[in-house]
Amino acid sequence: DPRLQAISQAIRVVPHFPKQGIMFQDITTLLLDHNAFKDAVDIFVDRYRDMDISVVAGVEARGFIFGSSIALGIGAKFAPLCKPGKLPGEVISEKYVLEYGTDCLEMHVGAVQQNERVIIIDDLVATGGTMSAAIRLLGDLHMQALLLR
Ligand code: 5GP
Repeated sequence: DPRLQAISQAIRVVPHFPKQGIMFQDITTLLLDHNAFKDAVDIFVDRYRDMDISVVAGVEARGFIFGSSIALGIGAKFAPLCKPGKLPGEVISEKYVLEYGTDCLEMHVGAVQQNERVIIIDDLVATGGTMSAAIRLLGDLHMQALLLR
């Protein structure tokens, strides 16, 4: 895709952030480049538009930016997957292991209904731990829905 090179160049790489040895991919510079940001969103919108997706789940916080844009583009709802304690309603949670310690993602019960097709959006996958937790979270919900029947 000819758009990918410009998108890639719009992402600033910050060495040793947030700690020594990490090459941080900073997408805030992409957000400041209207064409690159739009192209990045459009690529996902074109990919998912005709796939009967009714919910986009975005991972806090940068997944909210891309996820909500994609949701509007494909005509889907948006459900935030949040760090603990941010959502006021009843939640289901999924813990995951980080390099040091654990973290957790939460989603409102009822944000996704049984039989809905969901895509999960985040800005970046590194080890895949966060994305795996998001997949388990939505899988747990599905199990719960089946059990409730
Ligand atoms: P993982 O769980 O795959 O190891 O890390 C991915 C999560 O950490 C994502 O939620 C992502 O936002 C954040 N993350 C890790 N490394 C980077 C990075 O270099 N740039 C950005 N923008 N986010 C990162």
